[in-house]
Amino acid sequence: GAGPAEAVVADAVGTASGTPLAVTANVGSGRESAVARERGADGVGLFRSEFLALRSDGVPDEDAQTEAYVAALDRFPDAEVAIRTFDFGGDKPLPDAEGDVPRGVAGSLATPDRHREQLRALCRAAARGAGELTAVLPHVTRLDEVAAVRDHLDAATDELAAAGVPHERPALGVMVETPAAVELAPELASRVASLSLGTNDLSRHVLGTTRDADPAVTEPAVVRAIGRAVAAATDAGVPVRCCGEAAADPAFAALLVGFGVTELSVAPDAVPATKRRLDGIDRSEAAALAERATAASTKSEVDSLLKEAP
Ligand code: PEP
Ligand code: MG
Repeated sequence: GAGPAEAVVADAVGTASGTPLAVTANVGSGRESAVARERGADGVGLFRSEFLALRSDGVPDEDAQTEAYVAALDRFPDAEVAIRTFDFGGDKPLPDAEGDVPRGVAGSLATPDRHREQLRALCRAAARGAGELTAVLPHVTRLDEVAAVRDHLDAATDELAAAGVPHERPALGVMVETPAAVELAPELASRVASLSLGTNDLSRHVLGTTRDADPAVTEPAVVRAIGRAVAAATDAGVPVRCCGEAAADPAFAALLVGFGVTELSVAPDAVPATKRRLDGIDRSEAAALAERATAASTKSEVDSLLKEAP
């Protein structure tokens, strides 16, 4: 049974699950991190580093990347800043790309010099910036991608050490935004520090639709995929955040929390409303909602359940 200490923890957050809920921000630059801070974000849940390149024309060099990452880290001295490695390809083509770039981490591994440069920038920023940096890998579909990035991280830290440049190895996390990553979620959770659900891409990949189409996150197949990924992370004791647009939807937020998501990362302007939403949430009712939504067999059933979200 719960001892006195556990009872205190449960009381402090008003739930039996004990992990406090956080609302962080999705940003695309150091400057946007400042806005996120002003809006009361608890950290950065997703820094889309490819935006640095899409905004100017081309990938910024190692020094410029380092400055952008440090700017974000310095805004959140006591919090986590999750910086995603470049996610080019698909709807975010690299301006100077020669031919098709594979999406996400596969694209980084296919351009090893550029990937190594980004990892060096992240290691330098981790040492200089105030916040806690986690490097997040996009569009992971295979376990060996994580191993390959770790090898590159080893090499990056060796290079910086040899050059006498201050550096720190960041924690690693992965995006769960492909059906492959959902299947591999137990193994991924045992290899990395955190999972980030990308419901924008996960819904279209599960449903086989295009990204522009209605993402239909409330399709039962998507709801169940999300539930399985979160359960795998929870079983492994690894925190899981959601960074997709759905995190800012008040009803869907309840579903995510019900599954066990403990951090919602939303656009900076959506931070205050999302915080108010989570402040009032009853987590055991949210868990009951998640259970009912998992059993639902049509989108309209899920949608009506969400209309009565706690
Ligand atoms: C997602 O796919 O849900 C996600 C957060 O990543 P992005 O929108 O940058 O593809
Ligand atoms: Mg994505």
